[in-house]
Amino acid sequence: MKIKQLVDLKFDNRFTNELPADPETNNNRRQVLEASYSSVQPTKVSNPKLVAYAKEVAELLDLHPSVCETAEFTHTFVGNQLLTDMKPYATCYGGHQFGHWAGQLGDGRAINLGEILNQNNQRWALQLKGAGPTPYSRTADGLAVLRSSVREFLCSEAMHHLGVPTTRALSLISTGEQVIRDMFYNGNPKAEPGAVVCRVAPSFTRFGHFQIYTARSDYSLLKKFIDYTITTDFPHLGAPSPQTYSAWFTEVCQKTAEMIVHWQRVGFVHGVMNTDNMSILGLTIDYGPYGWLENYDPGWTPNTTDAEQKRYRFGNQPQIAFWNLGQLANAIFPLIKKEQPLHDAMDCYSETFEKGWQNMMANKLGLRTFDPNTDDDLCAELLLILQLVETDMTLFYRQLAKVDCSNGLNNQQLDDALQTLASVYYVPEQITPTYQQRLKEWLVTYSARIQADQRSQSERVKQMNAVNPLYVLRNYLAQLAIDKAEQGDYSGVHELLNVLRNPYTEQTGKAQFSEKRPEWARQRAGCSMLSCSS
Ligand code: AMP
Ligand code: MG
Repeated sequence: MKIKQLVDLKFDNRFTNELPADPETNNNRRQVLEASYSSVQPTKVSNPKLVAYAKEVAELLDLHPSVCETAEFTHTFVGNQLLTDMKPYATCYGGHQFGHWAGQLGDGRAINLGEILNQNNQRWALQLKGAGPTPYSRTADGLAVLRSSVREFLCSEAMHHLGVPTTRALSLISTGEQVIRDMFYNGNPKAEPGAVVCRVAPSFTRFGHFQIYTARSDYSLLKKFIDYTITTDFPHLGAPSPQTYSAWFTEVCQKTAEMIVHWQRVGFVHGVMNTDNMSILGLTIDYGPYGWLENYDPGWTPNTTDAEQKRYRFGNQPQIAFWNLGQLANAIFPLIKKEQPLHDAMDCYSETFEKGWQNMMANKLGLRTFDPNTDDDLCAELLLILQLVETDMTLFYRQLAKVDCSNGLNNQQLDDALQTLASVYYVPEQITPTYQQRLKEWLVTYSARIQADQRSQSERVKQMNAVNPLYVLRNYLAQLAIDKAEQGDYSGVHELLNVLRNPYTEQTGKAQFSEKRPEWARQRAGCSMLSCSS
């Protein structure tokens, strides 16, 4: 049964029912002590327009698609009107930003509308991003601009369709209001169109939710919060106890490792892996200055705010997740009071990541299983070769699948293979005979490995194309959709969302969405560089 009216959504609002509230209800920026959340009201906007919605997310909420096209839907999910059972609130959390403890952060521009239970009894929390200030907004306005909202909306859904754990996006609504942003913090503020995204996830709980209580030595609330989390989001772990806390942390470690393997598989760079942007469910959360690898470069980050240190560069994401888990371990230590279980869980992160990475590389290359005796070297050499000349990571694996290695490669076939790969390079002039020789040698080793695996070409292609996407949300593609959307034309957002629904399948007439970054996008803001300003 699909819901035809929003009033039929069933809210259970366990978060606000079970956790302590801040007694104050105004938006004065403040430190909120001894409370998990503050009640807030979204700010009303003048002229909201639905830019896009995701029918798959509506489905999770049992919403009939026709509901999403009503004025009521737009007014509700921009924050202009509340359903009777919605009890909007902003939560308190802290976090380490760029390696330093930052104290209280909290939902500064996220307003939770409550949690619903769908007909399968699944819990979904609904959260507006950009619907106005909260007590946690610090010096900022609680708003979001259209460009970053388009990016969050599209990337959430693109990641989901790629099979990467992520928060989802129900809707993207422009507000009709202007928001002032200095995009590169260089004294050039500009009015930009505002927007609100409605995010959906089983829970939006972050590592920082636990950290803030420990930082304040509020162990009673720490315990209340972890008990709430376990009973609500991890009910399979059983009744909360110190053992359950360790089991819980182990599961967070595993889920985080799995998420990072997916990021490395598809070439996603989060850009701001602060502990307040890490979900305890191992979901990709808070899409800000993220980016997609174009040329394979482990040192790349799209985030200009991190340009010096490159702490959150692609190749560093696995280590940063580990470091962040260490901070979560510190936060819950007062409840467990033993180091060993926490160390064991962190080891579990490393093992899950290592195994997951090997498995992922075997799939990317079309091997039956990863054999460390041969494949450690095979992968290490490939990842070096990919960096010798600017090589589009996404297209490389798709083109590699087309090279039939099932019977080995003779000289002629090696030349043909190089031809097949010719389209994946950004600067063809970089290709030297030495480079070609090295790539050929790798291809010879690789084809021998494929032969030893007795893999038919069709089996191998199937396996590789199921994990190596053809369509990813390339930074310049998002920017082209944004350019149009800022002119009031939302067709680019719709078309991109549609293509990204099937990222592994070649779609007729959609070749322009699988092309490598054009030269004009190399240095353009939004395409290669992004800031936290959003
Ligand atoms: P982020 O780096 O986007 O994860 O944000 C870090 C903190 O800043 C979080 O507490 C956010 O809620 C807050 N924040 C970011 N942008 C804004 C904004 N425009 N208004 C209010 N708070 C914000
Ligand atoms: Mg954040």
